[in-house]
Amino acid sequence: MVREHLADMVEQGLVTPTGLISHGRGEAFDYLMGEKTIAPALEAERAAAAFLLKAQRPMVCVNGNSVALDPKGLIGLAKAVPAKMEVNIFHRTEERMEQLIAYMESQGAEGILGRNPDSRIPNLTSDRALCTKEGIYDSDVIVVPIEDGDRAEALIAMGKIVISIDLNPLSRTSKVASVPISDEITRAVANITRFVEELRGNDAEIERIIGSYSSKATRRDTIQCICDALMSEFKED
Ligand code: ATP
Repeated sequence: MVREHLADMVEQGLVTPTGLISHGRGEAFDYLMGEKTIAPALEAERAAAAFLLKAQRPMVCVNGNSVALDPKGLIGLAKAVPAKMEVNIFHRTEERMEQLIAYMESQGAEGILGRNPDSRIPNLTSDRALCTKEGIYDSDVIVVPIEDGDRAEALIAMGKIVISIDLNPLSRTSKVASVPISDEITRAVANITRFVEELRGNDAEIERIIGSYSSKATRRDTIQCICDALMSEFKED
């Protein structure tokens, strides 16, 4: 069903054909993790909620694949924090931007940014650098689902806390992210939103989580989970 939906979204022009290739790569990693949220991802999702609650200017950034896969979940997360939302895409045309923003609005998004970019993410060439000053540019903590490595690196270079949702723990995005979450987008967003509700107002716990969080440990434990799952398959044969 998800594949059919994405193929439909390609026909409508919201998702690009290369978005399907990214999705396939994600599915392969999801398969290796048993198509469930593994423990290190859950811990990273809790840390993501803590960083978002502590942020001054939190942001949920969305692109074609994430809009197609989890519009309501992303809107729910942005409302829960509350965080601003901005559409930021790799293959940018004004028509596609308008389509994605209009689609998010049809799903309940309010005040979604991206229509009138007035800033650029430094160190990125091409139109994918375009963003708004009040949104992505000035944000301090930013959620980037299904992001490409160049933009993740550029956002880190701007000094932001970058929370990535990327099933591949070996991608450049996961390697550079402040909080790399290797989980499928709908599960990740639902878990972060739940943790936002749980942690809200508990400042001591938020501080404790942020103080003890290690992105390196998340990636190491994620890769270890994949290795363990692979070896257990081998032993059963
Ligand atoms: P990088 O540039 O970071 O090294 P890449 O070349 O794979 O990685 P993209 O294809 O733009 O860059 O990244 C998309 C990433 O999103 C892929 O690594 C893929 O694993 C991940 N992904 C795809 N679909 C999903 C999904 N439904 N949920 C979470 N992650 C996903």
